[in-house]
Amino acid sequence: MTKDKVGFVGLGIMGLPMAANLAKAGFELTVYNRTPGRAEQLEGPTIRIAQSPAEVAEASDIIITIVSDSPDVEAVVLGPNGVIEGIRPGSILVDMSTISPAVERRIDQELQGKSCSLVDAPVSGGDIGAIKGTLAIMAGGERKSFERVLPLFEAMGKTITYCGPVGNGQLTKLCNQVLVSVNLLAVSEAVTFARKNGLDPATMIQAVAGGAAGSWQLSNLGPKIVDRDFAPGFMIDLMQKDLRLVLEAGDQAGVALAAAGLVHQFFNSAQAAGDGRAGTQALAKVIEKLSAV
Ligand code: NAP
Repeated sequence: MTKDKVGFVGLGIMGLPMAANLAKAGFELTVYNRTPGRAEQLEGPTIRIAQSPAEVAEASDIIITIVSDSPDVEAVVLGPNGVIEGIRPGSILVDMSTISPAVERRIDQELQGKSCSLVDAPVSGGDIGAIKGTLAIMAGGERKSFERVLPLFEAMGKTITYCGPVGNGQLTKLCNQVLVSVNLLAVSEAVTFARKNGLDPATMIQAVAGGAAGSWQLSNLGPKIVDRDFAPGFMIDLMQKDLRLVLEAGDQAGVALAAAGLVHQFFNSAQAAGDGRAGTQALAKVIEKLSAV
């Protein structure tokens, strides 16, 4: 059986290494990035650079998009020279950006008019997961579409989960962001509490990380807070985009997202202090300021 030809739109921090992993797994790729120069960083005999998302779609059986926000996905899929202008009947669009579930459903409707389908498949695991090919991928769409794109997911990720119909991938990712951000607030408070009470915060983290309080945020971001390393693995600005999506979906479903709402406000304070492009662990600085550290 011949492999599906793959198109890739959006070669940012995440997209570039994900596309490289697909090429490494032997997929023939046609790629596009809005700002020229990024695509040239991908080298190989099976990689072709296209001039528009429409051109990517014309050459591909499965088209992956990973751009910033909902309007950006709408622009590269439904806009002028977008994927929809070139997509062939039977092709599948896989959007791996983190965006609104409602926008994914609307795009799916448009694609169905072209006898195509959508899989929404946002990711977790950051740039390191993208480079190592160990991303968590949470996918929504028709099961037969999911099964067809699974070999691509296996080249980019490790924990791959089918979550149900279109939009459910994004909803699952939003649950991920509630867990991550509220947990990070707890880490920020615990480190500040330790410091103000005269504990060595690094020893505190070492003591509790292996017990019931252990978490990815504590083990990976806790030491960065202690070391005053606020370089971004995941930027506050991007987390705020995700928390806006969380709160919007929460409003629609009638969910009391008190803690996620609170972290969103604290991140507003971090952004106002000029830390929008810092890593999410800079949340600790907000708690320190409130605690007169
Ligand atoms: P990024 O480095 O800023 O890259 C964004 C990409 O989207 C760039 O290729 C950019 O093109 C393209 N783009 C944005 N708006 C566009 C538009 N209107 N038209 C055409 N292209 C457009 O961001 P990233 O970190 O890769 O994140 C991409 C997505 O993955 C986001 O939805 C983010 O929330 C999600 N995500 C990120 C991480 C992470 O750790 N970074 C983790 C999980 C999920 P240009 O080069 O021309 O700007």
